[in-house]
Amino acid sequence: MSAHALDVLSLSKRFTLHIRGGLVIEGLQSATFQVRRGEFTGLVGRSGSGKSTLLKCLFRTYLPDGGSALFTTSEGTTFDLASTGEHEMLALRRQALGYVSQALRVIPRVTVERTVASPLVARGASADVALREARLLLSRLNLNESLWDSYPSLLSGGEQQRVNVARALIREPELLLLDEPTSALDAGNQGAVVELLSERLAAGTTMVGAFHDAPSLRRLASQVIRLDGGNVTSVESSERELAFAGGTRD
Ligand code: ADP
Ligand code: MG
Repeated sequence: MSAHALDVLSLSKRFTLHIRGGLVIEGLQSATFQVRRGEFTGLVGRSGSGKSTLLKCLFRTYLPDGGSALFTTSEGTTFDLASTGEHEMLALRRQALGYVSQALRVIPRVTVERTVASPLVARGASADVALREARLLLSRLNLNESLWDSYPSLLSGGEQQRVNVARALIREPELLLLDEPTSALDAGNQGAVVELLSERLAAGTTMVGAFHDAPSLRRLASQVIRLDGGNVTSVESSERELAFAGGTRD
């Protein structure tokens, strides 16, 4: 089986702004890189450099204009995320891919714990098992127990962000895409998310992600991709810091 969970070749996405006379923006230009199974690839670059565009092309929120993004599952099947059919893509999202955006998309009138549990229920788990797993994740992420039965819309941005992370992790995706998932969290809660992610890495999950804070990225990443104006300007392997060896979590 390929050691690479992800093999991205010349992946491109351009935006045509019709309201601005057809102005073309190169969101992502010919991105090429590989991601080994069970490793974290960090995306860095200033705002507007193409980090979210790349992640959305991999999750197919955006349909790439060119190139390929071969995803090989742990069972050895390869899919091109850039061109696979919509139906297949929906199945992949259900079974193998996870995506954490900055903001939780709140489902009205569904409690916090059920919001987290529902992807597991959708995959066939019993409500009890799913709720137990949801509560475990929420407590790992320090979400106050008094909030589990309330509605996500009532939560703060940072609380919603942790619900969002829990909702993505509960299905144990093979490939997890993270778009600044801790941007609204204080240092302690960032540490809780990073610790959970590094456990999942150790268990074999592959991740590609942008983090607004460099220390989180350094703790997780074994490879760093730098983007500038939609171009990949460097792909470097990085020495993973032994995250919690010193016991401090700035
Ligand atoms: P980053 O996540 O690194 O801040 P983005 O990937 O969001 O950067 O944006 C890269 C470029 O693509 C920016 O110039 C942005 O304005 C543009 N862009 C991203 N998404 C869209 C879209 N849906 N429509 C038009 N332009 C977009
Ligand atoms: Mg972004």
